[in-house]
Amino acid sequence: MDRAAVDLLVEQTISVIQDVALPLDDAHDGDIAAAGGEAARRMLQAGARAAGVFAPHAPVDCGGLGLSMVERAPVFEEAGYSLFGPLALNIAAPDEGNIHLLDKVATVDQRERYLQPLSRGEIRSAFAMTEPAPGAGADPTMLMTTASKVDGGWIVNGRKWFITGADGAAFFITMARTSGEPGSAGGATMFVMPATTDGVDLIRHVGTVDRSMLGGHCEVGFRDAFVPDDHVLGGVDEGFRYAQVRLGPARMTHVMRWTGAVRRAHEVAVRHVAFRRAFGARLSDLGLMQQLIADNEIDLAATRALLLQACSVLDDGGRASHATSITKTFAAEALHRVADRAVQMCGGLGVSTELPVAKIAREVRPFRIYDGPSEVHRWSIAKRAVRAITGETP
Ligand SMILES: Cc1cc2nc3c(=O)[nH]c(=O)nc-3n(C[C@H](O)[C@H](O)[C@H](O)COP(=O)(O)OP(=O)(O)OC[C@H]3O[C@@H](n4cnc5c(N)ncnc54)[C@H](O)[C@@H]3O)c2cc1C
Repeated sequence: MDRAAVDLLVEQTISVIQDVALPLDDAHDGDIAAAGGEAARRMLQAGARAAGVFAPHAPVDCGGLGLSMVERAPVFEEAGYSLFGPLALNIAAPDEGNIHLLDKVATVDQRERYLQPLSRGEIRSAFAMTEPAPGAGADPTMLMTTASKVDGGWIVNGRKWFITGADGAAFFITMARTSGEPGSAGGATMFVMPATTDGVDLIRHVGTVDRSMLGGHCEVGFRDAFVPDDHVLGGVDEGFRYAQVRLGPARMTHVMRWTGAVRRAHEVAVRHVAFRRAFGARLSDLGLMQQLIADNEIDLAATRALLLQACSVLDDGGRASHATSITKTFAAEALHRVADRAVQMCGGLGVSTELPVAKIAREVRPFRIYDGPSEVHRWSIAKRAVRAITGETP
């Protein structure tokens, strides 16, 4: 897509966000269940479809616009300006990452059966990796859910939690151990599992601070759940490798969306301090306040710069593990700082529901934990830096 076409898409996205997403978002404090859940999703997506901005990332043969990672950045940022914007464009987690993964890995049949309807917004999906202790968490190799080979397929047993969008998802991309022991570096396989499969149970919603993600973050049980051979995604024992296909880009699209949300909090806060007076001056003319404003501008600009650099590497076909780790870690912390400063700048209003600032701070906090906690990314960044000097292999 040429630059002018991307610019037009950005303008069209801004209109949909202003006219369709923000009014609903602000009327319900960013709580998607309170806004109507599935009915709200359909209404939001109808608005994005009418404006021609629906599924901008999805492959063209699935009805999408096929944007590259660099092209996605400004569009996703504008969509993220409303907490409901990503849902409207069908670029919300986890569907957006699952669309990316299926596009790269799915067979022709899986593409038709799962990727096509997911891209068109007819169904939703979930990605099931994390497990209660002592299972997979920050360390995915602790994977305990098992898939045992039987005639014609696999039997899956285990328990997952924090599975975003699970309530109402049509299928799960489930990570299960097909060889090795918890702690082994390999031996994981991804399965596409319809939610209607016997033995797949939605156990409960895990309560979390955020409220904008449709379908919640759920605990899901797999009890002797049969999945046929043709529902293996990619290769057997290749699950950790394919997880990287999803995770690098998915981290960057989270950064794009949260940059938009947090930019809104910053703009609202700047408007507040530009008009509010105290101690004989505008708040925005006081030195310590100027520091908060400037630090927010610096964090937002630095986040965008790192993001574009990592996206260029991904667009060039690189794995970009180092670049996406650096960007994810910096962005999750910088965006959290920006949101927190915006709260502070607004005084009491900053923690109220009168302004859309507290809700944005609430929503962005978990990003420092999912898609790899900051500490895990720092750990890998440091290991790579040392290896680059010593020449050691991983
Ligand atoms: C809102 C939300 C949505 C989520 N959605 C999904 C989803 O859709 N699908 C899914 O599978 N999972 C999902 N998750 C789970 C998420 O991926 C995990 O929470 C994350 O990987 C951390 O795992 P854990 O919670 O088990 O933390 P633990 O593994 O218990 O780690 C706890 C903390 O230990 C620290 N730590 C870990 N490793 C190191 C290290 N090497 N050095 C120093 N400190 C370290 C970190 O601070 C970490 O936060 C979601 C989580 C949240 C909060």
